[in-house]
Amino acid sequence: MSMMRAVQVPHPGGPFELVEREIPEPGARSVRIKVEACGICHSDSLVKEGGFPGIQYPRIPGHEVAGIIDAVGPDAPGWEPGQRVGVGWYGGHCGYCDPCRRGDFFACRIAAGITGITYDGGYADFMIAPTQALALIPDELSAVEAGPLMCAGITTFNALRHSGAQPGDVVAILGIGGLGHLGVQFAARMGFQTIAIARGADKEPLARKLGAHHYVDSQAQDPAAELAKFGGAKVIIATVTNGEAMAAVVGGLGTNGRMMVLGAADSLEVSPLQLLSARRSIMGWYSGTSIDSQDTLGFSVLAGVRSMTEVFPLERVDDAYERMMSGKARFRVVLTTGN
Ligand SMILES: [Zn+2]
Ligand SMILES: [Zn+2]
Repeated sequence: MSMMRAVQVPHPGGPFELVEREIPEPGARSVRIKVEACGICHSDSLVKEGGFPGIQYPRIPGHEVAGIIDAVGPDAPGWEPGQRVGVGWYGGHCGYCDPCRRGDFFACRIAAGITGITYDGGYADFMIAPTQALALIPDELSAVEAGPLMCAGITTFNALRHSGAQPGDVVAILGIGGLGHLGVQFAARMGFQTIAIARGADKEPLARKLGAHHYVDSQAQDPAAELAKFGGAKVIIATVTNGEAMAAVVGGLGTNGRMMVLGAADSLEVSPLQLLSARRSIMGWYSGTSIDSQDTLGFSVLAGVRSMTEVFPLERVDDAYERMMSGKARFRVVLTTGN
């Protein structure tokens, strides 16, 4: 029997274990992916530390997967070995519960799959994925380039394209990190007047290089007042995980402006007066499903959007994970298998 390497978390709070496992066979409506690259996302800490209810251990994390279909299970029309595919956080849905029947597949109540959480993910040489969860990777993108776009990329891209902003509108990206450095690129290339907001003057050159038309240093300036100078933002994409930093920009939304919350902050305190006085709103955003990922990859090729990425081999998962969690990575970290 053929074996593969995999990195598993044995129990909540446990260490990463590099183990040998039998190469799995795909069941119905599933494929086996020969994993080439898998990004490390902050959400992988939910598996590592046990922050997500109901995870069965040991579990292989990883939901920024890029690889090649290597075997196809029964009843998987349209999919064949050799196709390059990615898998993100969205890992499948039932298709018949009420949210699914309304087209809100991400909110499925019966069989909401989450890659690397409800089933094993991409920190391995091979993984099994339902065909629902697959996004085709264009030839122009390498696996290392595609990986981070499967979570950090889709989340910002899909939020922006559903934000209601029109070309020329003022759109602010709060935070220049793993999500934000992609968000700035997407916003600028979608034709928005793009304002990057981050702490410190040192990030301005990078923000401008990524395409930002303006930069606000939230340490030296009042970000809400700065946004007001542009007439207020139509949309703010909040990628930070700090509720105070989010609250500090709400006043910079223009009339009918909307802040889309992507960062999982613990709490967010906002004055209702701030909201109702200018009919401002705050909205959470879930990343998206596999076709949204595929659109993200396609747009990234079209517009030249790429993640800035640090690459580690699978066996150095400890170093890679620590680098990502330290917040020092510029800006995403990707594991490669050598496949
Ligand atoms: Zn993620
Ligand atoms: Zn459902």
